[in-house]
Amino acid sequence: MTTPLIDPFQRAISYLRVSVTDRCDFRCVYCMSENMTFLPKKELLTLEELDRMCSTFVNLGVEKLRITGGEPLVRKGIMTFFDAMTRHLETGALKELTLTTNGSQLGRFADDLHAAGVRRVNISLDTLDETKFADITRWGRLPQVLRGIDAAQAAGLRVKINTVALKGFNEDELFTLVEWCKGRDMDLTFIEVMPMGDIGNEDRLDQYWKLSDLRARLAGEYTLTDLAERSGGPARYVRLEETGQKIGFITPLTHNFCESCNRVRLTCTGELYMCLGQEDMADLRPALRNHPGDDAPLQEAIRAAIAMKPKGHDFDYSRQSVEGRMSRHMSHTGG
Ligand code: SAM
Ligand code: SF4
Repeated sequence: MTTPLIDPFQRAISYLRVSVTDRCDFRCVYCMSENMTFLPKKELLTLEELDRMCSTFVNLGVEKLRITGGEPLVRKGIMTFFDAMTRHLETGALKELTLTTNGSQLGRFADDLHAAGVRRVNISLDTLDETKFADITRWGRLPQVLRGIDAAQAAGLRVKINTVALKGFNEDELFTLVEWCKGRDMDLTFIEVMPMGDIGNEDRLDQYWKLSDLRARLAGEYTLTDLAERSGGPARYVRLEETGQKIGFITPLTHNFCESCNRVRLTCTGELYMCLGQEDMADLRPALRNHPGDDAPLQEAIRAAIAMKPKGHDFDYSRQSVEGRMSRHMSHTGG
């Protein structure tokens, strides 16, 4: 057994998020510009390389893999990769294989994902209004996503809805979304909008809806009980006593989760980001590509990267200007 990955602040790294593509069939306004330039295909890790990369992390003690993007289900042949990961679930080395998706392709893939061992899926959905959905995603169509959600539940996948809280956009749907999720037995998590990437004219400070405000509005309608549950990430949970629902809040701009951070993020080109809020990364691709058949250099490169994991990040919206703004897109590191 190899020694597990422990960073300089004694945090065990057990969770890897992997972006398998930077492409997407949507153009959400807070995530991408309308005219995105995507990476040339040859820059991307092949499906075999993704397998080798993830398997090396699993051998080093990673127990949870979350596949993301861009939109992970638009990557050609992606089910081959999910099927390849099943072997790590079967040995018990991997405890959970999951994904974050916009839901558009779940009608096609939900059954296959369940067969590969996926049991839970996060689906991003910001509104239940068809016109608003088309506006916010630019290219998305709500009925297709709703069919995807139906397919996921029919396949036996547990669904969590992720909703980006956007001032003046979905404020009026707060209770509608809560009730809709209750009716379908789905968890719901709200995400505070983050200053990522150059996405055109949208002013992020205009869209910014503080989750403390959202939470206060919920508290006006329901009795909220804080739950001790922690994910090692920026999510906090409450239970709505009247309905028994669990509601999550992801406030990535606060620092209060960094000390328990258990995760790193791999981009589709093989760059490892040790912190979502910092530019520091390690390019693992040379260690992978230059040593086919020998995982030792890759293991060494991963350990060296983890040794550089910073203590925390430094986003700051407090003075009405966005300090610590990230120049890369969320679709690059997968959120
Ligand atoms: N395409 C998939 C999806 O939308 O679920 C996976 C990738 S997407 C980048 C992952 C998550 O990041 C989504 O829930 C999306 O809403 C969120 N996201 C994207 N840009 C964001 C931003 N600027 N601030 C907060 N969340 C953002
Ligand atoms: Fe695509 Fe997800 Fe970004 Fe929307 S949030 S543009 S669905 S990657």
